[in-house]
Amino acid sequence: MNKNYQFDTLQIHAGQKPDPVTKATGVSLCLSNAFTFDDADQARNIFALEEGGYFYSRLSNPTVDVLQQRMAALDGGVGAVAFSSGTAAIMGLIMTVCQSGDEIIAANNLYGGTIGSLSGTMTGMGFHSHFVNPRDLEQMESLINEKTKMIFVEAVGNPNGDMLDFEAISTICKKHQLLFVVDNTTPTPYLFQPILHGADIVVYSTTKYIAGHGNVMGGIVVDSGKFDWHNERYPLFTTPDKAYHDIIYADMNEGALCTKMIAKTLRDLGGCMSPFNAYMTLLGLETLSLRMDKHVSNSRKVAQFLKTSKAVEWVSYAELEDHDSYELCQKYFPRGFGGLFTFGVKGGLAGGKTVINNIKLFTHVTNFADSRSLLTHPASTTHAQMSEEERLAGGVQQGTIRISVGLENPIDLIDDLKQVFDKIETE
Ligand SMILES: *Cc1c(COP(=O)(O)O)cnc(C)c1O
Repeated sequence: MNKNYQFDTLQIHAGQKPDPVTKATGVSLCLSNAFTFDDADQARNIFALEEGGYFYSRLSNPTVDVLQQRMAALDGGVGAVAFSSGTAAIMGLIMTVCQSGDEIIAANNLYGGTIGSLSGTMTGMGFHSHFVNPRDLEQMESLINEKTKMIFVEAVGNPNGDMLDFEAISTICKKHQLLFVVDNTTPTPYLFQPILHGADIVVYSTTKYIAGHGNVMGGIVVDSGKFDWHNERYPLFTTPDKAYHDIIYADMNEGALCTKMIAKTLRDLGGCMSPFNAYMTLLGLETLSLRMDKHVSNSRKVAQFLKTSKAVEWVSYAELEDHDSYELCQKYFPRGFGGLFTFGVKGGLAGGKTVINNIKLFTHVTNFADSRSLLTHPASTTHAQMSEEERLAGGVQQGTIRISVGLENPIDLIDDLKQVFDKIETE
């Protein structure tokens, strides 16, 4: 496959050849758990990681493999490994790179589930995370020590859509020969390509826009192949692994991360993506660019409407000039910002509830990135357990509404919002 094909071409073709036996043009759904070997020597070589090949679907599967290769191509990476969910992908990456006692520097505005795992279960297992304001580069750098294994940020902050100076963070990581990991779930590789701006590894919850229809879970880790693992910071990559005839992963260069993630993490912890989910995800992925363009154009129309509505106090959408991240958005997101943003309605908690209780076309859920338009009222759901102070520190006011603009006709979306705003006191 010509790696220079445009995004829209790669999203349909990368990673796939017509099936040599059936001549099928579509990706085949291969549900077999096991794959046979040609002979004893080939089996031995595959087990010793000396030869590629499928043998058991927890480690590799032909349908999942097409998705892995396609995502690597779309992101400009050298390889990718799929997991059962975005959470499994992120924790799988940490398990691949870190051992108990190691430290992670993580942004304090990550997806709530990631903060929960890092500060709860992962801390209990000995992986310590420092949560920092990702714009405070001095504090970020001051936390780096010999145990630090990665800086982990999200391309778009949750829930206010703030962005980071990715190139500046990458510079700090390069100086300390430290991994820079970006969770690029919200923009997708169509709107933002972290590897072009210095990320070493990109992770996704494919559950969201990649699959795109709100009907299949998944996650994936994409490796840029640019990180030099011959580095004292990563002994798991530089010391021989007895499980595989003393292989040294760092010596596999571009293949180091993906090989270890499959041969150790998927082998020992499971968490693989099911072939059926890969098949569904590939189906969604074929139209990613078309969908994202429509999410972007719909969002622009909805944001403009919100801006002019009397019931709305503020709109936090990075394409508007008054947003803190306006300039970063212009620099890093040339195709547009995307479909997820927040706005504040008048009347605080009561105003927020009025929206949720009267909206008809939008669905009230805590998910985002569906083909359907969705609304969340964080103060009564995702952020309800927090103190007023914690909530405000997370950028969530009582009247904050998070909106995930779907693929419907924007006229209907705006009409739906209009009829709810008529019910909100604007005096
Ligand atoms: C949803 C999400 C995750 C977790 O993914 P799951 O597929 O739900 O496990 C991680 N990061 C971000 C940014 C997300 O939006």
